[in-house]
Amino acid sequence: MIIGIDDTDSNEGMCTTYLGALLLDDLQAYGTVETLPLLIRLNPTIPYKTRGNAAVALEIKTCCPEKVIAHVVSRIEEFARMECEKTNPGTVFILEKDYDKLKPVLRSFLEKAVKDVIEIEEAKSLISKSGIPSKGFKNGRGLIGALAACGAMLNLEEWDHTFEYLAYRQKEKWGTPREIKKGSFFEADKETYPETWDTVDLKNRLVVCVPHSADPVLFGIRGKNPLIVTKAASFIRAELVERFAIYRTNQGTDMHLLSAESIAEIRDMHSYRLEGTVSAVPKTIHGGHVIFPIQDKEGSEIDCAAFEPTKNFRLLIRRLRPGDRVVVSGSVNSGTINIEKIEIKKIVSLYREENPVCPTCGKHMKSSGQTQGFRCKKCGTQATSKILCETKRNLIAGLYEVPPCARRHLARPLVREQRSDIEIHPAR
Ligand code: ATP
Repeated sequence: MIIGIDDTDSNEGMCTTYLGALLLDDLQAYGTVETLPLLIRLNPTIPYKTRGNAAVALEIKTCCPEKVIAHVVSRIEEFARMECEKTNPGTVFILEKDYDKLKPVLRSFLEKAVKDVIEIEEAKSLISKSGIPSKGFKNGRGLIGALAACGAMLNLEEWDHTFEYLAYRQKEKWGTPREIKKGSFFEADKETYPETWDTVDLKNRLVVCVPHSADPVLFGIRGKNPLIVTKAASFIRAELVERFAIYRTNQGTDMHLLSAESIAEIRDMHSYRLEGTVSAVPKTIHGGHVIFPIQDKEGSEIDCAAFEPTKNFRLLIRRLRPGDRVVVSGSVNSGTINIEKIEIKKIVSLYREENPVCPTCGKHMKSSGQTQGFRCKKCGTQATSKILCETKRNLIAGLYEVPPCARRHLARPLVREQRSDIEIHPAR
């Protein structure tokens, strides 16, 4: 059977992946777990999320599904932060006899949960129509993520994936500052990049795979396969780990992006890849955020933003000029695209007017007065008008991304990019 779980944590603690790791051990008593657990990131713009909008799915071969269900429910009751208004846990159980029937339905549900917005009623009606054993707590919003995660487990071959090695803290340490040796994370990165990524941010000298919140995660190493994330984790020196789990995940896949043909179809709370032409010089506003508009072929405009946390990425964005052709990727909130990645396709040539150059000595001529043209004082040569000189653009066409310290979970890092038709500039 497949078990889907979501929405057990609050800002004050817990993490649904911790419950997943705990259950992986517990469930050995009821059967065998042969598949890696799943950590599925859903629509990153959903306001109900605590942090990264994650849901978890596990698969177990068992001859006592009733016992498994009772155990999972009791673990949620024990660990979920029910006191928090935003915590509304949900768990669903897909029995093996229903796999074939539910595979396509839950595939579409997964797609929608990652790219779109789902009402709780839709999840509840699917559950009752299909007779899916489930348990929702409080308003049961977690049933949405729980169903989506099961959809991912039923359709393993149909979505791109990466892996994350998650190490969890000993319980008595939860909520206290994490004891880590920073240098060991840089070493892990040095030994395993580019097969692992987002362990550290070299340019900003930051360890980015260690959270700062009160949750049980000590660190999470992301990478291409289970072996390499395990190798990277072996370099880490830090406080004692209570347990760890390797999750197969849709992180780093761009699964959230919809391709937009025009700005007219763009809606808040969705994420897009959109091509357009820069239509004004980027502006730096209060707080250090950099904003510029792009225009589509119908002439509609939308603002794109490189917010302050994107750090050095803003230097690149500030160099854009009207006429540059770009493809931006990112989530839309309040009518603005929050850029995760940008493809600079075409850099427009810019010209400035200069006094003409003397053909004899090569120096710039001087103006002879209004409407009098130009003259070289030394050689006496003359010209009637100014000349246009191309301005050097400090920009190279290619694919660029925000630095690791500003990466969204679902954004595919450029280190995973396979394209050969364009220069790729991974952020490190
Ligand atoms: P946790 O570790 O508890 O999973 P989180 O940051 O991942 O923390 P949640 O606490 O799970 O966030 O909150 C997200 C809530 O939004 C969940 O109840 C989930 O079911 C719901 N949700 C996820 N995707 C969508 C969607 N596309 N439309 C509507 N609701 C969604």
